[in-house]
Amino acid sequence: MYIVQVASECAPVIKAGGLGDVVYGLSRELEEQGHCVELILPKYDCMRYDQIWGLHDAYRDLWVPWHGASVHCSVFCGWVHGRLCFFIEPHNEDGWFFRGRYYGCDDDPMRFAFFSKAALEFLQQSNKRPDVIHCHDWQTGLLPVMLYEIYQYHGMGTQRVLYTIHNFKHQGFGGPEILWATGLNRPEYYFSYEKLRDNFNPFSLNFMKGGILYSNHINTVSPHHAWEAHHGECGFGLGHTLHVVQDRFSGILNGIDYGVWNPESDRLIPYQFGPETWSDKVLNKKALREKLGLAQGNKPLVAFIGRLDEQKGMHLVHHGMYYALNRGAQFVLLGTATGAKINDWFWHEKNHLHSNPDCHLELSFNEELAHLIYAAADLILVPSNFEPCGLTQMIGLKYGTVPVVRGVGGLVNTVFDWDYDTSHPLAERNGFIFYQQDNYALESAMNRALDVFYDNPDLFQQLSLQGMAYDYSWTNPAKEYVSLYDKIRHR
Ligand code: ADP
Repeated sequence: MYIVQVASECAPVIKAGGLGDVVYGLSRELEEQGHCVELILPKYDCMRYDQIWGLHDAYRDLWVPWHGASVHCSVFCGWVHGRLCFFIEPHNEDGWFFRGRYYGCDDDPMRFAFFSKAALEFLQQSNKRPDVIHCHDWQTGLLPVMLYEIYQYHGMGTQRVLYTIHNFKHQGFGGPEILWATGLNRPEYYFSYEKLRDNFNPFSLNFMKGGILYSNHINTVSPHHAWEAHHGECGFGLGHTLHVVQDRFSGILNGIDYGVWNPESDRLIPYQFGPETWSDKVLNKKALREKLGLAQGNKPLVAFIGRLDEQKGMHLVHHGMYYALNRGAQFVLLGTATGAKINDWFWHEKNHLHSNPDCHLELSFNEELAHLIYAAADLILVPSNFEPCGLTQMIGLKYGTVPVVRGVGGLVNTVFDWDYDTSHPLAERNGFIFYQQDNYALESAMNRALDVFYDNPDLFQQLSLQGMAYDYSWTNPAKEYVSLYDKIRHR
């Protein structure tokens, strides 16, 4: 099968969070399973050019219809760790992808509406006719709309779209200017409730709603989150829209790329280890402490890695940090804030804890350090408010780092509580879960985990090894995606 992924991220060249990992990992596995995969991405100024091999301009003159005129683009081509990627660079005054960051600009809806249009135009003009166009998140929500409303009449009538939603919180909103720019026009048509009008704001078009209504199949990134989004509040206002498409909406758990995340072969950690050499894990702990200037000793090390965003349960992260320190543990945090308030808050904490030999806050994006922390820590904390899938607990498990998580979204599908799980035998349990959103619930789970660490080291090792034994690779999820692709292809 010939599949084109259209996305705003692909690790390690463009990565703000899990989306990048997923786009890369899934593409790699699909190729391993014999399919032809190509990726279309924006050509950001700030992406990691050192991670692209053989970058060259493949199509110098791609003219993309826009606002009744055209925008001149170049399409670059290169390989990201073996994946064939096309990077679209528009040459316009607004410098859409010359912003020194991937997201967070006032004109993000316009930037990504353009990107979606340019991706279609590129496919059309270069005569690429994939069986399936796989779109990801709000940034590409308008692509299936434009495919159905415009491009199917320009030789792309047989292309099918799978739309994967990684995060319902960010939906992409715009006004009529988006319709005029993209050539969709007809505001009276698109501003109807059955089309793109936001379910709550009648003056806004909702990109993600468009993606849901116009795609041949829609999925989110874990079975439990699919249920939460449809029936609970995790759909952020799109629950009814999901209800309308319920016969073509499902959840597929993300995988982890074990080519990147494997402690037995990871070149970014100083001491490789596996289940047979589990005791070498502690050497990484020593190395991390040395690197960050933390005290050596027998204390447990609790880690948090992730975007510093309300989604991730920042009050619980903050409380967990002090709780860990009070219980004689060490705490390491690696993250970048998505807003000024949280940024100020954690910089304040960083300064406050500056001379504490048991705590380090690293407020930056650092892929290499992330690998070392996963390898070094004893516990990984994931106290999210909501979590569509969550990769950090799955990576933690592979590195023998026991997860302490809140029971939401994909965390429920991947972590099984040592004390209370009823669906798995003791030999298959791998972490600690709490459900309520308050400090006491968090403390009770951390308390249980730390008690095992302090009082029963053999049991703690067993738990860590049980986590390492889980297979959260892409092998099975990719098969599920292939059967979805097949289904929509023959519909
Ligand atoms: P989300 O997609 O909501 O950001 P996920 O748990 O799905 O969260 O994926 C997070 C990914 O981003 C993981 O691979 C994690 O290691 C990585 N990550 C997050 N923040 C950082 C950071 N500051 N430095 C390095 N890697 C990070």
